[in-house]
Amino acid sequence: MAKVLCVLYDDPIDGYPTRYPRDNLPHIDRYPDGQTLPTPHAIDFQPGQLLGSVGGELGLRKFLEDAGHQLVVTEDKDGPNSDFERELVDADVVISQPFWPAYLTAERIAKAQNLKLAITAGIGSDHVDLQAAIDRGITVAEVTYCNSISVAEHVVMMILGLARNYLQSWDLVKAGGWNIADCAARSYDIEGMHVGTVAAGRIGSAVLRRLKPFDVHLHYTDRHRLPAEVEQELGLTWHESAADMVPHCDVVTINCPLHPETENLFDAAMIARMKRGAYLVNTARGKIADRNAVADALESGQLAGYAGDVWFPQPAPRDHPWRNMPNHGMTPHISGSTLSAQARYAAGTREILECFFEGRPIRDEYLIVDGGHLAGAGAHSYSEGNATGGSEEAARFKSKPTIPVQ
Ligand code: NDP
Repeated sequence: MAKVLCVLYDDPIDGYPTRYPRDNLPHIDRYPDGQTLPTPHAIDFQPGQLLGSVGGELGLRKFLEDAGHQLVVTEDKDGPNSDFERELVDADVVISQPFWPAYLTAERIAKAQNLKLAITAGIGSDHVDLQAAIDRGITVAEVTYCNSISVAEHVVMMILGLARNYLQSWDLVKAGGWNIADCAARSYDIEGMHVGTVAAGRIGSAVLRRLKPFDVHLHYTDRHRLPAEVEQELGLTWHESAADMVPHCDVVTINCPLHPETENLFDAAMIARMKRGAYLVNTARGKIADRNAVADALESGQLAGYAGDVWFPQPAPRDHPWRNMPNHGMTPHISGSTLSAQARYAAGTREILECFFEGRPIRDEYLIVDGGHLAGAGAHSYSEGNATGGSEEAARFKSKPTIPVQ
């Protein structure tokens, strides 16, 4: 019997939903590159249901308990007295979502003597100290592609939202106003702008494809260059590094993983290389951008806008400067946790668990760390090391959320 410890975000303030705005999800055959969607033997949930919160349990309880395993689900993840820290000591498997990350630091890994598998129900395993996982021989796996398109859609929305001054205009209407000049004085078309992505992996490429019909000039930088025919089809300009690319861009979108190479990449020096009045959209990871440098650049006007849904740590402390800086479009970490994405990452998590319990190999594209080294997707896109430093600050966000969504 194995103990599976699963950390999920809180249920909605009004309780676990009994109704949803839509009756079903569209059917998707395959991901854009031909990769198959998750293939578990079965699922015990209704796609379209809220699965990522504690009440949804990723649809795993019946499957695990029928097989004689123990499932512990908690949202209490931060600080030495948290349920997570207490339950971790004899857990065989930990499941966590990047939206509400259970930081698996080296100290926590040292306490988790039985731990063999850390699953990210989503994409981005930077909340695990990958170096410590490598050193301990723990397998780290994520559900590659499950929410890449969800995020790409969100990026396009945020670029348009910032350039068109959507949020301020919406606020003005809610406040009873009709002052068009106030809205228009910060509003631009993106047509003709230069838009660059840091990384053209699954999300970055999907953003480029979605922006192409807007008649913008597209740029990218990545460790591996895209095939020449893709560059030609999308009219892409490739740059050796982010530092080389950003001076050319009116909009920059960050779509690389967080690892030692990308931590703090958008610091004051990088932001100073950007055009005055550029927009920066970061749905990758909060720690890729320096929090004070971003806030300062919005204050000074070096950046005309910053949007995204990723912070460091998560949940963000209530006094995090990104909550109140000017001209931002931040949300909590939601872009990859649509109900559509949840159905895929819950099924993918189950597929990984089935492989683990049946002694079958986990798909190579799901692997980040395996056998004491970076593996699969991790070997392609990450570098060794640790990016969890400072995560203990998450414990400062203590009480449960009290702000109802209207
Ligand atoms: P992919 O693995 O498909 O793409 C990541 C890309 O980043 C790869 O092309 C990789 O290059 C590139 N890359 C890595 N390091 C660098 C670097 N130093 N400079 C430039 N490019 C680099 O992953 P996805 O596109 O699906 O996801 C990307 C990230 O987005 C995730 O790791 C996660 O952090 C974040 N994410 C956020 C979500 C949200 O809800 N906000 C949800 C899903 C993901 P190569 O492989 O060529 O070496």
